[in-house]
Amino acid sequence: MSTTTTTTTRTEPPSTNSPSKPIPSTSRAWLLKAFNQPYELCDIPTPTLDDPHDILIRVTAASYCHTDALVAQGIVPPLPPLPHVGCHEYAGVVVALPEGQSVATHGFKVGDHVAVSGRGNHVCGDCLECDDDSAVLPDAKGYSVYCPSSGAGLGVDRPGGFREYAVVDGRQVGRVPAGLKGVEVAPLMCAGLTIYTAIRKLNLTQGQRVAILGCGGGLGHLGLQFAAKMGLRVLGIDITGRALELARSLDLPNNVQIVDGKDEKNGAEQLRKAMGQEDGRKYFDQMGVDAAIILPESQKAFDLGCALTRNGGKIMVLSFPPEGFHFSAFDVVIRRLSVEGSLIGSNRAMEEMFEFCVQHGVRAKLTTYAFEDLNQLVEDYHKGKPGKLVIDVGKGR
Ligand SMILES: [Zn+2]
Ligand SMILES: [Zn+2]
Repeated sequence: MSTTTTTTTRTEPPSTNSPSKPIPSTSRAWLLKAFNQPYELCDIPTPTLDDPHDILIRVTAASYCHTDALVAQGIVPPLPPLPHVGCHEYAGVVVALPEGQSVATHGFKVGDHVAVSGRGNHVCGDCLECDDDSAVLPDAKGYSVYCPSSGAGLGVDRPGGFREYAVVDGRQVGRVPAGLKGVEVAPLMCAGLTIYTAIRKLNLTQGQRVAILGCGGGLGHLGLQFAAKMGLRVLGIDITGRALELARSLDLPNNVQIVDGKDEKNGAEQLRKAMGQEDGRKYFDQMGVDAAIILPESQKAFDLGCALTRNGGKIMVLSFPPEGFHFSAFDVVIRRLSVEGSLIGSNRAMEEMFEFCVQHGVRAKLTTYAFEDLNQLVEDYHKGKPGKLVIDVGKGR
């Protein structure tokens, strides 16, 4: 956490019907002091700005991701120094800019509502990643969320959003559009951006088919909405009652089929034949989905995704079980399935995703908690509560 220098603007922007209020010298943060222990709510010095790209925000919403659970368990490298503040998907209001700036270098002003993705903090600007604008939905040249100097990102190996005030790199944040609230935006910043970008990278056209394995989870239920509303034909698969219930509760167009992966009549062969019949395909090899997105950390899910995909299709991997995935050389060589991975997404993808969410009404299914209830949230997460669990800082105040 930064500890030096002062900011010029040390008052909060006025909200409706209230005057601006001073930024406190100390504020509260949830600290992970030891791995595999609950977070502790502590008073800490309110962070200050010591980099010309940084801005100070008052956090309004902070969403919990599976990676937070892995960091708290000490599983994900690089491990953060302790105490650590988790959360890499959050939203807030800009309350201070670096000394001498009335509008930040990246265009933000005090009072602007921003959304924070954990990646892309303090990039170098001139490495291979920062220089590469060839990918699907790339960042502008000179900036990349994959820059090695930005580490694993805010909330992973640097302090994140489970606190009242946070310093973020103004280049890594997105402007929250009118029509989206902080609690709606926060869960989009890792889960939403990851699955949105992955679907876009598949380069599918309207009417093509995609399977989403783990469709009732945090990323999955957003993926169902994005893919369906992009005009793809979607096969959503999950295996638990709660996840299937969540997926089926979404308001989706009729180009989506949700199936229980445990049900024997939903074997890959039957599903592919049914799709092939609908598509008028002659050969079994050509029947099935054009791409499958693998969300669970499960070899069974990976295998089913491959088995559902037509020859020449693509497997998009978004999870990383410690033991890895085994792939069949037959699938890759003879069936020519390609396997690709994807991590979070660029600022350009973030902007496009926000626009898509506003236009098509895509929202995460939320359960919100007061700021003081983070450990309750974590407990509920581990009990398998479906949807996205989000701290709403204004709740109960
Ligand atoms: Zn770089
Ligand atoms: Zn995440």
